[in-house]
Amino acid sequence: MKPVIIRSLSELRKLTAQWVRRDESIGLVPTMGALHAGHLSLAKAARDACDRVIVTIFVNPKQFNNPEDLENYPRTEHDDAEKLAPLEVDAIYVPDGDQMYPKEFATNVSVAGLTDVLCGAHRPGHFDGVATIVAKLFLQSGANQAFFGEKDFQQLQVVRRMARDLDIPISVVGCPTIREDDGLAMSSRNLNLSDDARKTAATLQQVMQDVAAGLRTGKAMGKLRPTALARLKEAGFGDIDYLDLRAMDDLGELDTPERPARLFAAAYLDDVRLIDNIAI
Ligand code: AMP
Repeated sequence: MKPVIIRSLSELRKLTAQWVRRDESIGLVPTMGALHAGHLSLAKAARDACDRVIVTIFVNPKQFNNPEDLENYPRTEHDDAEKLAPLEVDAIYVPDGDQMYPKEFATNVSVAGLTDVLCGAHRPGHFDGVATIVAKLFLQSGANQAFFGEKDFQQLQVVRRMARDLDIPISVVGCPTIREDDGLAMSSRNLNLSDDARKTAATLQQVMQDVAAGLRTGKAMGKLRPTALARLKEAGFGDIDYLDLRAMDDLGELDTPERPARLFAAAYLDDVRLIDNIAI
């Protein structure tokens, strides 16, 4: 059955009220659209775990710190709906800007600490935008579980903290990163890469795998980083925002993986900002 497309909060509430009355569990998959297999894997995980599934599509202006990035962000609503149809998603929630941020909107949800580092340090206001919109989606949908990709691992941790801190009764589930055949993490932004840049993009994952292998043999991040950065530059990457080893729980910086850790990277290619992370 084709998913129903919902554009207003009142329609969403009407639908979810029926499900709650029948004691059906609700899974939520928040996205910004331009759906790829990574997003679809979240919808499948939600389908497996919950009675009802809502995928949301909203290009959230508040989480873009760069107006050009917002303008260039791909929007493919028709294709998105087609891709979701075979997955037995119940509803696609596509609110417009006025629905989410009415004129006098004045509230900001800000998670301290976790957002000081990595993308938080390089994209001012980004995680406030994420935490605010995700809090709204959690409260609007009344979902029992929400599904997020480990591709955006810092986002996943920020959302978990926010839900716990605000006592929102929802369980936040992290799902593995889905990759292209050459290892590049799938991302809606990959659509903005030129053909040449698309070929180069996989170097990010190769360099990260090599750093990970070095870390596993006992080498320190401080020793491995200079060679890794030089390889990325040589391959054609522009600014590299970070290549860091960080603790999984609090994202504190590490030189060796003495506690559960992940390797995080963000770098520009063709003016497209690519991010990735892997478990060590
Ligand atoms: P976005 O539309 O980029 O805001 O992403 C929506 C959700 O999809 C987030 O939870 C992302 O972490 C997740 N996601 C994006 N890319 C991938 C991927 N390659 N594999 C798994 N999840 C992903």
